[in-house]
Amino acid sequence: MKELSSSEIRQMYLDFFKSKGHAVEPSSSLVPQDDPSLLWINSGVATMKKYFSGQVVPENPRMTSSQKSIRTNDIENVGKTARHHTLFEMLGNFSVGDYFKKEAIGFAWELLTSPDWFGWDADKLYMTVYPKDTDAKDAWEAVGVAPDHIIAVEDNFWDIGEGPSGPDSEVFYDRGEAFNNLAADDPENYPGGENERYLEVWNIVFSQFNHEPDGSYKPLPRKNIDTGMGLERVVSIFQNARTNFETDLFLPIIHKTAELSAGKKYGDNHEDDVAFKVIADHARAITFAIGDGALPSNEGRGYVIRRLIRRAIVNGQKLGINGAFLDQLVPVVGEIMQSYYPDVLKQADYIAKIVRSEEDRFGETLNDGLNLLNSVIADLKEQGGTQIDGADAFKLYDTYGFPVELTEEYADDQGITVDQAGFKAEMQKQKDRARNARGKQTAMGLQHDLLINVKTPSEYVGYTELETTSTLTELVVDDQLADEAPAGATVEAMFDTTPFYAEMGGQVADKGDILTGDGTVVAHVADVQHAPNGQNLHTLTLVAPMEKGTSYELKVDRKFHSKVEKNHTATHLLDKALREVFGEHTQQAGSLVEGDYLRFDFTHFGAVDPADLAKAEAIVNEKIFAEMPVKTVVTDIESAKKMGAIALFSEKYGKTVRVVSAGDFVTEFCGGNHVKNTNEIGLFKITSESGVGAGVRRIEAVTSAAAYKYLHDHDDILHAVGSALKVTQVTEVTQKVSALQAQVKSLEQQQAALEGKLASQEASAVFDKITTAGNYQLISGTVQVSKMDQLRALADTWRDQSLSDVLVLGAEVNGKANLIVAVSADKQKQVKAGDLIKAIAPKINGGGGGRPNLAQAGGKNPAGLPDAMTAAVDWLSEQD
Ligand code: ATP
Ligand code: MG
Repeated sequence: MKELSSSEIRQMYLDFFKSKGHAVEPSSSLVPQDDPSLLWINSGVATMKKYFSGQVVPENPRMTSSQKSIRTNDIENVGKTARHHTLFEMLGNFSVGDYFKKEAIGFAWELLTSPDWFGWDADKLYMTVYPKDTDAKDAWEAVGVAPDHIIAVEDNFWDIGEGPSGPDSEVFYDRGEAFNNLAADDPENYPGGENERYLEVWNIVFSQFNHEPDGSYKPLPRKNIDTGMGLERVVSIFQNARTNFETDLFLPIIHKTAELSAGKKYGDNHEDDVAFKVIADHARAITFAIGDGALPSNEGRGYVIRRLIRRAIVNGQKLGINGAFLDQLVPVVGEIMQSYYPDVLKQADYIAKIVRSEEDRFGETLNDGLNLLNSVIADLKEQGGTQIDGADAFKLYDTYGFPVELTEEYADDQGITVDQAGFKAEMQKQKDRARNARGKQTAMGLQHDLLINVKTPSEYVGYTELETTSTLTELVVDDQLADEAPAGATVEAMFDTTPFYAEMGGQVADKGDILTGDGTVVAHVADVQHAPNGQNLHTLTLVAPMEKGTSYELKVDRKFHSKVEKNHTATHLLDKALREVFGEHTQQAGSLVEGDYLRFDFTHFGAVDPADLAKAEAIVNEKIFAEMPVKTVVTDIESAKKMGAIALFSEKYGKTVRVVSAGDFVTEFCGGNHVKNTNEIGLFKITSESGVGAGVRRIEAVTSAAAYKYLHDHDDILHAVGSALKVTQVTEVTQKVSALQAQVKSLEQQQAALEGKLASQEASAVFDKITTAGNYQLISGTVQVSKMDQLRALADTWRDQSLSDVLVLGAEVNGKANLIVAVSADKQKQVKAGDLIKAIAPKINGGGGGRPNLAQAGGKNPAGLPDAMTAAVDWLSEQD
């Protein structure tokens, strides 16, 4: 076996497929783009849906990638099996309507066995195929796989519900007798079974059907290949590691964890080893997920991150690590992955900061959770129960971040179990809620058969022209290509040239009209989107018939377009201003450029200081007033990067890119429409700032006339306030308000002083009457106070002056009854305040409790206060 590092293996895979004509695609963000059906990118193909569904035609139908992926459904397996992770890298090769089964299998065999590439021993390899898929079996035999190494397995059909599906073929590596964890005759002991000896390394999917919404399978017009090979598993084979964890991808993290632990060593005992593995796994997943802009929270992706961090902390405790430590693993992960993911190390400080604050936060809930857990257990014991119910375990999990395993271990020490089924039911309920919230979306769009084959060119000329004379080249009526359309129809249309912008990069589509040569309007443009082959596809509502091949006048609504331009350039200025104020790590998390306003989402941890927001707003306006020219150039991606252009992480760019700069302030990759000089924007005003989801803030802002109107409306409000306050100049408003506040405060103080006096008069009246109840001297009575606090103050006075053995005071406050009971220090053995209050509180329809020296109660029945006093005398008379 060759001695190869994980970086070399990843590179070898990509190089092999590059040599077979594949375009090497970068590893996309873990956060799916425009795909609400997925929480995380969980495979290479998940980033390629738009190509597989036909929505977009790729530049090269052959692609290869090493795609970071997260699979939360494997979380329980982590550390327990040798081969599962939450975050792993999936090496893959893809064919979109190009090569199919035979070539895919040929490539696979060459990569795996050729001495120029992996050079693995053919005897060690086993293939599974779908029983009906004789083509796959024949193809494996044709390349030289022995028939007894090809196993038919019924499960080998890849299906994710609606969308592309098909049989698959998996490649297993026989790790040898030494890895047997099952008896020889165990039914799972075969390639494809759940065992440690035969390791699944690769899955090759032949996607040849479309799983239709009605459940049937229709052959796809274009057949696709999608494969996935787990990098960590391949590395474990090359590095002769017992599990994925004893490889260069994980060992440095494990060693660092050992350093931070209370003298624990990896390899000493099974239980600790599981903890080490879980920590190493989760550290990677957390680091990458946060690096891609996700943040800990209570829902969706954020919840996954939170759960991983807490699990890691609990496992850290098992290794004797108290307090935060995960943040120190972040740079270790960054270093391991640096060759292919240089951004992680660059962002390490930022990521570590977020991890640290989440660790500190769990440190707080950890104690709150423990308190709740203790009281649940105490209650259970009192009632003779032995099982914590599912709802309580779920509350601990959900509200206090207590993993159910931790609850279980803790309860177990006291002989108590956890209702797992009940917990799971609660969990399922929450999952269903989350799924419903995400909405019902098809897993993968159906192929856009109709437009995939439409390659008629269409040129967008809107950067320079807003009116053109253009020929109608394609018309879609009722999902059919057509030559003409009647008045009243809503149709889709393409023209040889068009000034209409198609919605993209947050900028909305242009509006406008289509006219005949003599100036009669024939259609309104309702929407413009990109067709699969990139043409601008106009949705038109017709007022008169239209005909293919005819020439029309295309007229963009200039007023609307000009507002959009202003908002778009302002968006770039804001993006840069936020980076100046909050740091370069601030990432755009979404943007909408409308005619009336602009909306900009960005990553930011915690609340935004209004002063910072004002700073960003001031910077944008400064750049507007500086009258900076806005220029665009079209160039190649490398030159654009050299210009320092801001690119969106999530976006994939072609070979040539358009770059927009405003003076020397900001340069961004952008295909949108912009003003020629920043001074056209006139004015920029932020109208709102709020949190949307965890760690993402949203700014809404307006420009130009809309900004003027906004400020003017606020000026009106200010004047209205001024006249209500009766000031002559609005500038006096703040002064006037401060003066009023001071006045209110002094009145409150006077009132409190008067109430104090009243209360002490009340007190001397009550304190004068000492009676005897049983063996005790008692002061009791109803007093007039306005707050419960004053009752407590009276009890303090009573205690300071040692006036009697027992004090019982009642008061009516805001229609409710309050009681306080105090017992002198030398009588607390015989009489407990808490017991006495329990005996008398029912008279006021209430309940209460407290310590032996002081107790209080509240109730709904003030009329019962005299009865409560009588009851106190009776109760005391019965005591020793
Ligand atoms: P397994 O049965 O081992 O869980 P799978 O059938 O779920 O694997 P696929 O969905 O076919 O895996 O994914 C393709 C490849 O990705 C697998 O052959 C494996 O090498 C890798 N892979 C899948 N899940 C994981 C995981 N949780 N951790 C590491 N690698 C994985
Ligand atoms: Mg599989």
